[in-house]
Amino acid sequence: MSERVGFIGLGIMGRGMAANLLKAGFDLVVWNRTASRAADLVAAGATLASSPADLAAGCGVIFTCVSDTPDVQAVILGEHGVIKGAQPGALVVDMSTISPQGARELGVALAARGVRFLDAPVSGGSEGAAKGTLSIMVGGDAALVERAMPFFTAMGKTITHVGAIGDGQTVKLVNQILVVGTMLAVSEALVFAQASGVDLAKTLAAVSGGAAGSWMLSNRGPQCVARDWRPGFTIDLQQKDLRLVLQAADQVGAPMLATGQIYQLYRALQQAGLGHEGNHALIKAIERLAGVEVGASGAHNG
Ligand code: NAP
Repeated sequence: MSERVGFIGLGIMGRGMAANLLKAGFDLVVWNRTASRAADLVAAGATLASSPADLAAGCGVIFTCVSDTPDVQAVILGEHGVIKGAQPGALVVDMSTISPQGARELGVALAARGVRFLDAPVSGGSEGAAKGTLSIMVGGDAALVERAMPFFTAMGKTITHVGAIGDGQTVKLVNQILVVGTMLAVSEALVFAQASGVDLAKTLAAVSGGAAGSWMLSNRGPQCVARDWRPGFTIDLQQKDLRLVLQAADQVGAPMLATGQIYQLYRALQQAGLGHEGNHALIKAIERLAGVEVGASGAHNG
């Protein structure tokens, strides 16, 4: 028998993930700080709660997907937070990307009220959230992972229980080191191709299926060529993730040569007012160094 399920945070990711829970037939309650963003889900059959505490009072399992560590703390531990409504034995699953230490502290705070916790950050972009094909990296107790599994399989394709609470976030940071390094390589490669005068569409077609192929190349490469900077994932949130990477890497003494530089490039783009653009706009930093713009016409679109 399924438990009534709650979802807090209906942004680019959360709205797709919540929609997939609804499609899978779960009895869904939603809450979003900006209530109007819940309208589509409510029209599709979800119930709108008046606060995270109100939502938690009626749900056995509660998912959160908001921006940064303080935002997760606000919706879970705040004045009208989940902790104020959750019943003992309820399960809270945070799917945002936050600091591993922040996740461990949430686990401790909730456990003091008899509420259980998993950290379960995701990868796969807005496309993966909409299609239900996310990779989900889960930290916490195995029995709780089992309990959450029917919900995870409605939202994702690759669900990996990686360790204790906080380890899901650590593995997500591993993912982000790989993603931004790949995006820098895509950026340098496309600027080189443009400067060399080869056809960019043919170049992408030629290299995407070989050893250089990647999700970032296949999904974000064509967007760069089309100069489509709409965000699946914003520069501001990617910069947040790299801050979390650099903090965690400092604690364990791991060198972050490329990741540290990419953090600085994203900082420059934020200073240029581009924080709301998709994180593939990293290529603009390389274009500015090169004095070259990718795109068939080389036109200036922003
Ligand atoms: P987004 O579109 O900016 O949405 C952020 C969501 O968090 C919105 O629902 C926002 O509410 C809510 N929120 C932020 N601060 C809040 C606060 N203090 N109190 C209550 N609600 C708050 O971001 P997103 O792309 O969906 O990302 C959400 C999380 O998933 C982030 O941790 C991100 O790093 C992670 N993630 C994103 C992607 C991706 O490709 N987009 C991929 C993997 C992981 P409002 O609607 O009121 O602003």
